[in-house]
Amino acid sequence: MNKGPEVARGKTKILYQHPERADAVIVSSQDQITAGDGAKRDVIGGKGRLAALTTARIFRLLNACGVPSHYLSGGEDEDQNEMIVRRCEMIPIEVVVRGVAAGSYLKRHPEVKEGAVFAPRLVEYFFKDDARHDPQYSAEQIIAEKIASAQELEEMTDIARLTFEILVHAWKTQNVLLVDLKVEFGRCVGADGNSEILLADVIDNDSWRIWPAGDSKRMLDKQLYRNMSTPTDSQLGMIKEKYEEVADRVGQFQKSAGGFVAIIMGSAADLPHAERISKALSALGIPSMKHVASAHKTPLHALARVEQTDSTMGHAVYITIAGRSNALSAFVDAATPNPVIACPVIGSSWAGMEILSSLQLPSGVASLVVLEPENAALAAAKILGADDTVIYGRVLVSQYRSRKNVIESDARLNSAPPNGKAGA
Ligand code: 5GP
Repeated sequence: MNKGPEVARGKTKILYQHPERADAVIVSSQDQITAGDGAKRDVIGGKGRLAALTTARIFRLLNACGVPSHYLSGGEDEDQNEMIVRRCEMIPIEVVVRGVAAGSYLKRHPEVKEGAVFAPRLVEYFFKDDARHDPQYSAEQIIAEKIASAQELEEMTDIARLTFEILVHAWKTQNVLLVDLKVEFGRCVGADGNSEILLADVIDNDSWRIWPAGDSKRMLDKQLYRNMSTPTDSQLGMIKEKYEEVADRVGQFQKSAGGFVAIIMGSAADLPHAERISKALSALGIPSMKHVASAHKTPLHALARVEQTDSTMGHAVYITIAGRSNALSAFVDAATPNPVIACPVIGSSWAGMEILSSLQLPSGVASLVVLEPENAALAAAKILGADDTVIYGRVLVSQYRSRKNVIESDARLNSAPPNGKAGA
């Protein structure tokens, strides 16, 4: 890749100005592996390429979930060790999220056993300073020393937590426990001229601890290197194999589990309701199909649609829409082992009493009821997200954004002057 002048250099990477874009830099991952703040260092041929590959795959997954990151492109070609990212002003704080106790936490808390679970996850901050061995900082210190504002730190913490949960899910699909994770952030000027916080730096096999089947003896990450006093060539070769395995496994994270929603409505009159559902599903990246089939008027046609969906779509959730007497939801539910969410249209003429036909079901029938179309889509996403990390991550990010909206609304209300007049 053509590169501009060198912009910065770390222990395992070099940053170059992008030759055409002033707002982008090229991150070139190197073959060094280091520990003890650079006191121990070795070279593993090809590690830079594996680091770029792992990082690009992780950032592409996070971007697909809607996590704000600096990653633009590159890093995924087998012969490349370079990726293009947005130019940021890096914030010199390592944010560490821990799911279970390990590493430096145990040294600081010898009373805690390795593997003790943190609920909620523990978030710690370390100031990046090799000479002082990256001392732990409190949130108050970071704000008082103006390293980041309170709002920036809150955002960094939230994004670090989201990133951790998404990667926990991704690793869990491979029966690997994500123990802890280190991430870094940058300030970047957005298209609107405002500064925004982005997940930055790299996320590779040096950034986490990962234990297959939750067994620390089977670790796949850089801790293997940290544990060796003077690694031999064959030990370095073994570490490279683990890094290759991790890059390969990470390549599976974004693979779709084939989740699909079949929206079945009792009448074409229900189409506006169905469209609200399909719009909310596509915002979460979930494909859907709409059918009109009535349990009362066309039971055989409704059954044929269910059989067709079950035999052609691997992993389907049904959302059924019916007004008045809702026979459709229970009918579909009895015909399929897949989950059915009833999202009935409630009219005004019976004071909403038709809801009872969605609630009282025969034995052995279990259609769920969610009244708002957008919420029915969310419920389907939560079901499909169980084995699809992108859908799971999109649900997490949408919940985060909706929490943030509430908090920001409250802040706006309470920062207004008491009589509502600006400057009064
Ligand atoms: P600990 O504080 O227990 O040593 O590390 C916590 C987590 O952050 C681990 O996943 C570890 O790999 C990661 N980590 C800590 N310091 C660094 C660092 O300087 N560079 C990188 N890449 N990861 C780190």
